[in-house]
Amino acid sequence: MVSIKEPQLVADTSQLNWMNTYNQEQLQTLQLVRKYLDGLTPRAFSELKSTLKEYLSFRNDLDTFLTRHFNDICTEQCFRSRLSACCSREGIIAFFADVLVNAVMSDSEPLDRIEAVLSQPNPGFKCIFLGDEGCLWQVTPIVCAIFLCDSAKERVFEGNEELHKCWEALEEQKKRFTWPDRPVLFDDLEALFIDAGLRSPLMYLHDSPGLLRIKQLAGIDTTKR
Ligand code: SF4
Repeated sequence: MVSIKEPQLVADTSQLNWMNTYNQEQLQTLQLVRKYLDGLTPRAFSELKSTLKEYLSFRNDLDTFLTRHFNDICTEQCFRSRLSACCSREGIIAFFADVLVNAVMSDSEPLDRIEAVLSQPNPGFKCIFLGDEGCLWQVTPIVCAIFLCDSAKERVFEGNEELHKCWEALEEQKKRFTWPDRPVLFDDLEALFIDAGLRSPLMYLHDSPGLLRIKQLAGIDTTKR
């Protein structure tokens, strides 16, 4: 989907020595987030959840659009044929904010299931989060939610410029939460944890040289954290 990371073996230092970097980063981040959320008072949790309101509303709009215009074609092209080309092994980059949003919006049980699959090797070619009933995430990572393959786009948008424009508008809206050429939610959520002394390898908006460059070009101070 976005980019394929080569799995790298982790040094033989623990009982998880089979675990590749991908599983390890995802698992550590989810555990970090769950621990932080468990320590919040109900009021602090509710305040954090309220900061997600606008983003969740956007995700709702996105889901509605995709269900209305792509459900049939994706079911026919991918899921019925069991191709599921969008959900390839280690094919997605989940941002720290994706993990946090999903954890805030999930009960313990689905998060326990995610931890369980991450604690096992993934022998297949599909994404480790793809279960028999579909994705294990309640709120899927944004790169998954916004992904449409070229073939599906061609079939749905061909001859329907208005619909194509609606899609482009949704892609633009996504940037308002994720693209750090201005203050964005995904950056703020990382900063919340960094200020609390907590770090994750999925904090790309604070650690990725490419995204830091976007911030610098926009005149955003990247030296504070
Ligand atoms: S996280 Fe979910 S939606 Fe995204 S690639 Fe994996 S199974 Fe598919």
